Amino acid sequence: MTRENEQRALLEAVFERINVGVLLLDDANRIVRWNRFMATHSGLEADAVLGRDLFDCFPELPASWLKRKLESVRLLRNYAFTSWEQRPYLFRFQHDRPVTGGVDWMRQDCTLIPISDSTGQVSHVCITVVDVTDASLYQSALQEANTRLEEASVRDGLTGIYNRGHLETRLAEEFARVRRHGGALSVVMFDFDNFKRVNDTHGHQCGDEVLRQVIRRTSSLLRAEDLCGRYGGEEFTLLLPDTPVEQAVRVAERVRAAVEATPIRTRNRELGMTITLGIAGYEENLGSHEQLLDNADKALYRGKREGRNRIALFDHRLDGQG
Ligand code: GH3
Ligand code: MG
Ligand code: MG
Repeated sequence: MTRENEQRALLEAVFERINVGVLLLDDANRIVRWNRFMATHSGLEADAVLGRDLFDCFPELPASWLKRKLESVRLLRNYAFTSWEQRPYLFRFQHDRPVTGGVDWMRQDCTLIPISDSTGQVSHVCITVVDVTDASLYQSALQEANTRLEEASVRDGLTGIYNRGHLETRLAEEFARVRRHGGALSVVMFDFDNFKRVNDTHGHQCGDEVLRQVIRRTSSLLRAEDLCGRYGGEEFTLLLPDTPVEQAVRVAERVRAAVEATPIRTRNRELGMTITLGIAGYEENLGSHEQLLDNADKALYRGKREGRNRIALFDHRLDGQG
């Protein structure tokens, strides 16, 4: 074998064995080269496709789009790319990953390369097909994990409702909205009555279960746009957008009555439970959302002083300036 032939044979071996699809089209989009990757994944050996029109062999190809793309590669003598993120695949090939990944066909990154002859004219276009199914699966898994993390970062671990950080963020937004556009906004803070006794008598785990069940019951009484959040310990906050205080008073009383009405059933006992609730509404003289929370908190502690298991509406005269 001459040195040139030897080189050609080596290149041929690479062309055949490389784990990338490679095909070559002439100026009429007929297939003139077809490597092993393409044969294996399409099920069509080179004999079956060579000399034939690409679009006759693969009717599922996006013909008008790809023809335009090929024309521009020939005309401009530029590379063109297709990424799986914009177009999941060119050739509908099966992949060998578990079906659980949720990917139907092999994801592909493809490149269209202009090939010039000795006169400098673009005589052929080479198309390479890279299997990027794994990368696409990793990316989907990563996105799902990020979504789950984002969701978890705004939730309270014990009860599953919103945590304090998220609640304050949302309250600040609502506060700003009402300040700008007018409308109503109310906040209810509530605290479990004599909760220390539950822990002391029945244990901390029982206390946890009581918190979970009461919050589930409370949440079921709210509208979709209302937010229930854990402010800390056994203290919780309801954020009621578009709600004047008179209406918030009715919501708070409904929640109070629902908690009192039915004892909490834990594994082997029933516990009567009550809560005290403080209510405050948006007022123009409030400097910040923190003051609104503070007013609800003051009302709550007046409710405690007045005997618990009750609602208390913030009152400037009784609770001082917020
Ligand atoms: P009051 O009616 O005045 O609110 O009486 P209280 O006993 O509820 O008093 P306080 O609010 O000061 O005490 C709250 C208790 O709740 C103390 C704390 O150990 C308990 N607690 C706070 N967070 C949790 C929790 O996540 N799980 C359990 N089981 N207990 C908690
Ligand atoms: Mg308490
Ligand atoms: Mg407390």
